[in-house]
Amino acid sequence: MHEEILGQYNWWLVVLSIAVSILSSYTALLLVRRMMQTEGAVRWKWLLIGSLTFGVGIWSMHFVAMLAYKMDMVVTYKAWGVTLSVIAAIFSSFLAFYLISRKERRWFHHILGSVLIGLSIVSMHYIGMDAMEMGMRIEYDPLWVALSIGIALAASFAALQLFTISANVKREEADYTNLKWWGSSLGMGAAISGMHYTGMYSASFHPMEEEKISSAVPVIDPTLLGLCIAFGVMATIGFLIKLIAFDTKMESTTDRLHLANQMYKSIVESANDAVITSDASGRVLSWNRAAERIFGHRKEDMYGKSLRKLTPGPYEEGDLSKMVQVIGRTVELEGLHKAGHTFPVELSLAKIDDHGKVFYIGIIRDITERKEAHARIQELVFKDDLTQLPNRRALYEYLFESMQKEKSDASSAVMFLDLDRFKHVNDVYGHRIGDLLLSETAERMRGCLDEEDLLVRQSGDEFVVVLPEPSEGEARRKAESIMKAMALPFLIDDREIYMSVSIGISLFPKDGHDSELILKHADTAMYQAKQSGGNQYVFFTNQISAMISRKVQLEAGLRKAVERGEIEVHYQPQIKVSTGDVIGFEALVRWRHPHLGMISPAEFIPIAEETKLIIPLGELVLREACVQFQKWVDAGYKVERIAVNLSSVQFRQPSFLKVVERVMEETGMAPRHLEFELTESIVQDSETAIPVMHELKRRGFTLSLDDFGTGYSSLSYLKDFPLDTLKIDKSFIQTINENYKERAVVDAIISIAAKLDLSVIAEGVETLEQLEYLQGVGCEEYQGYYFSPPLSSEKVWTLLKKCALSQ
Ligand code: C2E
Ligand code: CA
Ligand code: CA
Repeated sequence: MHEEILGQYNWWLVVLSIAVSILSSYTALLLVRRMMQTEGAVRWKWLLIGSLTFGVGIWSMHFVAMLAYKMDMVVTYKAWGVTLSVIAAIFSSFLAFYLISRKERRWFHHILGSVLIGLSIVSMHYIGMDAMEMGMRIEYDPLWVALSIGIALAASFAALQLFTISANVKREEADYTNLKWWGSSLGMGAAISGMHYTGMYSASFHPMEEEKISSAVPVIDPTLLGLCIAFGVMATIGFLIKLIAFDTKMESTTDRLHLANQMYKSIVESANDAVITSDASGRVLSWNRAAERIFGHRKEDMYGKSLRKLTPGPYEEGDLSKMVQVIGRTVELEGLHKAGHTFPVELSLAKIDDHGKVFYIGIIRDITERKEAHARIQELVFKDDLTQLPNRRALYEYLFESMQKEKSDASSAVMFLDLDRFKHVNDVYGHRIGDLLLSETAERMRGCLDEEDLLVRQSGDEFVVVLPEPSEGEARRKAESIMKAMALPFLIDDREIYMSVSIGISLFPKDGHDSELILKHADTAMYQAKQSGGNQYVFFTNQISAMISRKVQLEAGLRKAVERGEIEVHYQPQIKVSTGDVIGFEALVRWRHPHLGMISPAEFIPIAEETKLIIPLGELVLREACVQFQKWVDAGYKVERIAVNLSSVQFRQPSFLKVVERVMEETGMAPRHLEFELTESIVQDSETAIPVMHELKRRGFTLSLDDFGTGYSSLSYLKDFPLDTLKIDKSFIQTINENYKERAVVDAIISIAAKLDLSVIAEGVETLEQLEYLQGVGCEEYQGYYFSPPLSSEKVWTLLKKCALSQ
């Protein structure tokens, strides 16, 4: 029987049946693997489709294989038998796939899985054989049956083994064309086909009673039917494979969406800023952890609530229109905490339009700390620590802003205030007292001003007041009231300190159109107030400005004048009244300015003193005078004296005596010929002056007191100084013939000098009458335009020659 059967196969259909078995195994395994990759309820879907595919696959294989087997009779199938065979196959493969797809897989799961697969194949086959109706009795050869079962088991075991290996490969790296993958499908196909054909080999067909044999003729050609079924199954399989591919793609997209969503959530939750979403009407849709912290409201309490809860007022419920205005921008607002207090927040708002449905996403940052830091910085930057007044920076900011926006008809006044001799307070009492005095000053000034006036500590002992829209009279009144307040003694640490202030006032826009100029002009006016002795206020004028700018020009020029040789020394003869002989000369400095011409020492000496330039300048004059004098002496002229003026700045200079000594050495001049003219300001500082004067005397120099009678000189100190000569100031001489009081002064000076054993020289003698008067009262010497104005050195040579000839 076996031999005939082999010959009765339709080989095309056999190949087709094997292909069906392999392809359906491939698809079933693919589905199982898909199932292993998914989570939740979908797993069961994939498992079910997988086992259905497998079950139907085996059945199709069986059916096609049976069609391949050429039999002479018509075969029909019992519906219940077929159903049962398919269900059995599906059921056991379902179990098998379930077992092998478990995450915690054991070796016996594997064995059990193979047994179940094998069982599904075997049961399908034998139940399916039983479902055939063909009027034949089938007998089985038990050995071959056993072999068929063995083949099914072994092949499915091997197939599953390969499957688990390839299915374990990570999803991303999975390769459907993988050899192991195909191996497992082939194994499964081998299990099915091998079992079938071995099973068929074990079967022998025996005819039953005649009447039972169906004589019907087959309606459809079995080969065609086989092809139809095979291709139907393959089409289904193809569809399934596509489905899986599509699903995998879909899943990775949803996976990505899911992941993005997760990431979004975790970012929002861990954010430091409140991230709040709302619908178009301002009802809260989401509320993160930072929002809980910042606003104090719990997530649960805020869902569906109005955003109105978060602001202290400006945004009413229906007022989202206002919020819309800030979309895409960052604005600073007030936030309302659950506890009732408000705090500064920064809001960035975005709008999302989801197919006509509008949502808002607000990112809200609590900027309390930033605001506080900013305020602190403002304080540090714009406030003076000592007086708690605004500082210079605040002033510039204020002036700049106010004068920028001010119209031409608006006005303001700037007062520049500077304490007089504050440096002296610092030097004498120390900086602590100085600081206390400044604080108190600030308080007194503040007390003289109105609320809207700005008082600023500009620096050190300088203050600035800005009066918005004052009249000139008001500025005057306020300056006077400040001066009055400052005139009261300051009682600091039980010390009474007297202070005064110099004030310069400039008006906007009269005196300047920008803040810088106005401030500068107020400063200039203040400087003028100082120059005029302090303790006064001065309104800025253009003359003041011109004066100051000339001064500034001279100051700058003076530095270079010494180096450039613009400094000259002129000499005014000093005459013996009794004989009319030239006994000496007073050296007087001259500055020949390249643009401004001759500049009077009365103008530039004070500048030189202020800037200490008097030190090199004075040394230059001294050297020049001595060199010149020595030349006259060397030329054989009988000149007794050269008188040189000294400034108090020079005199206080510790190196002064050394300078004098050096000049004497250089010129080889005898000290007795050199007379120093001292001013009263030198003599007043008696503590330092007296020792130096004694030293000069000791070295043989002579000393005269210049401009005598003009200062506050008290006659009493005359006896304490080692002086040789009193020089009567020219102001007394010039009025000597008009005014008896002046005459009385001159008489008194001459008689005191006689008593103190001092000689007397009169300066500024311009007329014969003046000279004759001096002669009458016994004044020994004089100088003045009557005899000669100060002369250049060349003219002195001419004069000396003339005098020598006339002798
Ligand atoms: P001073 O020491 O009182 O000098 C006398 C001033 O009177 C000189 O002015 C001189 O030119 C002027 N004078 C001389 N005779 C007459 C006269 O008959 N009538 C009038 N009205 N004036 C007369 P000058 O040269 O302009 O000097 C002004 C002041 O500058 C000096 O006053 C002196 O205080 C200072 N000075 C001049 N040269 C020097 C110097 O080398 N060093 C220092 N420290 N001061 C100097
Ligand atoms: Ca003089
Ligand atoms: Ca003088």
